[in-house]
Amino acid sequence: MKFETKIKTAAAAIILVMSTVAILPMIVNRQVAVVMDELDSAANVERLQLTLLEMLLNAETAQRGFVVTGSERFLEPYYAALNTIPSTQAALRKEMTSSAEVARADAIEQATAAKLHTVTETINLRRDQGFGAAASLIAMGMGKAQMDKLRQLIGNELTFYAQRRSQLSAQLRNTANSAATVSLVATITNILFLAGMLFAGQRVLRQRNAAEHKAQAAADHAEVTAERISIQNDLLFRSAELMHSLELAESVDESAGIIASYLPRLLPRLSGSLYLYNNSRDLLERKAGWGVFDAEPETIEALDCWALRRGSPHLYVGGDGLVCRHASDTSLDRLCLPLVTQGDVIGCITVTGDELAKAEEIQRAWIGQVAEQLGLALSNVKLRVSLRQQSIIDPLTQLYNRRYLDEVLKRELARASRSGVPLSVLVLDLDHFKRINDTYGHEGGDAILRKVAAALRENIRSGDVACRMGGEEMVVLLPECDTENALKRADALRIVIAAGDVLHNGQRIGATASIGVASYPAHGHNVQTLVHAADLALYEAKHEGRNCVRVARASALLELGGQESAEDNKERRSS
Ligand code: GH3
Ligand code: MG
Ligand code: MG
Repeated sequence: MKFETKIKTAAAAIILVMSTVAILPMIVNRQVAVVMDELDSAANVERLQLTLLEMLLNAETAQRGFVVTGSERFLEPYYAALNTIPSTQAALRKEMTSSAEVARADAIEQATAAKLHTVTETINLRRDQGFGAAASLIAMGMGKAQMDKLRQLIGNELTFYAQRRSQLSAQLRNTANSAATVSLVATITNILFLAGMLFAGQRVLRQRNAAEHKAQAAADHAEVTAERISIQNDLLFRSAELMHSLELAESVDESAGIIASYLPRLLPRLSGSLYLYNNSRDLLERKAGWGVFDAEPETIEALDCWALRRGSPHLYVGGDGLVCRHASDTSLDRLCLPLVTQGDVIGCITVTGDELAKAEEIQRAWIGQVAEQLGLALSNVKLRVSLRQQSIIDPLTQLYNRRYLDEVLKRELARASRSGVPLSVLVLDLDHFKRINDTYGHEGGDAILRKVAAALRENIRSGDVACRMGGEEMVVLLPECDTENALKRADALRIVIAAGDVLHNGQRIGATASIGVASYPAHGHNVQTLVHAADLALYEAKHEGRNCVRVARASALLELGGQESAEDNKERRSS
């Protein structure tokens, strides 16, 4: 049965029981009133019958007194009895209404009448014939017999009504007891119904509470899930942003910087370091760090890290398991993740923080995914850097090639023109190189080329760029360097080249170089004119005996004026 139906049924039962209890006093009152009336009536009958008996006894006493004394004064009770007895009998008739009572009342009335007749006869005999006649009538004993009969009749009546009264009293007690019992039963029934309702109500409340708790838990769970999804979306968005930024990175160092700026947001409340193998692959260098990483070592060996040894993530939480040797603080929880790409380990990420212990499997898996993507992205960066290197580096001399020179010269010229600083170009050509080739072979020539290139690399500043234009002709770009300084630097290079030699097939061979110098803004405003001006200066140096430096003449700019403005326009259009 449904809870609502149960409650309605119980409520109806309670109303019924309470209505019964409410009607009960009325019924009881009515019964009590009937019994009380009967009791009254019984008591009245008893009283009337006692009165009747008393009247008759008074009448008999009066008759005896008159017989003995002959004095009329003694007859007063007799006359009082004659007066009162009829009304007493009438009153009795009213009370004694049942057929049995009527029969008994008749008998008493007849006996009373007979007794009164004898008393009256005795009195009259005394009056008419004197004491003797009256005494002899009395002596006959009829009056006594009549009185005894009356005593017996009224005595029976009194006994009957005494019993009746005790019966009625018992009935009254029973009625009261029944009423009390019914009340008690009704009250208990009501209490039971109420207790049942209370119990059922409590059970339903408990069920509802449990359902509410369940619903609340489900709502909480949904909220947590939604929050988690939102965090995951945010993380995915950030990681996509990171990967996109890494696609644009031009060097591994730049990538490391990008990773260091993104990882605190991707792995919140965790610190960490990014280690990458150095070129000789004997050590891993720390390329980036985030959070608290000061105590982490700058370099680690592959054998110091369990993740690197195994090629899979290694978790160390709560002092449980193997601790990596590179761990600066063994009390810290740590997760090391190898950066693997196409089966090749290129480095590792080591993450520390209390969050690791709390992190669920899914969060650790997320960190693993980040490491996986980073490995891939870093290897792409490396590949890109290497491809770019290949495309801009001359394989024989390891100097930048002509393509790169065009690019960097254009960029540096634009910068120089923006900031108003000078820039110089040295065009360098080895002297009689054909002769060297002829004498020592092509390989000898190559050895000289490599030697000169090394001399250039070693003797230029970090911002300078040395390129091989082709053959045995090289260009050195000197940003922020005017003609005067460029001349000095060119001469210094010339001397270094001339002083150097290389051992080839047991022979020491060397070379000299002629150098032409041109500067922005003195000798040209664009790549072509500047290089051409330096070329002309080189030509002069060759012409004037080689192994010397010549600066472009200002007239070169004038000679090239028309050509330069046409080139300038072309460049401006293309940029
Ligand atoms: P000059 O002093 O006037 O410059 O005389 P030169 O002999 O150097 O004259 P030129 O510039 O005409 O000769 C350049 C030679 O350099 C021609 C070519 O065989 C040689 N050469 C060009 N590229 C290479 C190279 O990669 N390796 C070697 N070994 N020789 C090269
Ligand atoms: Mg030459
Ligand atoms: Mg040449």
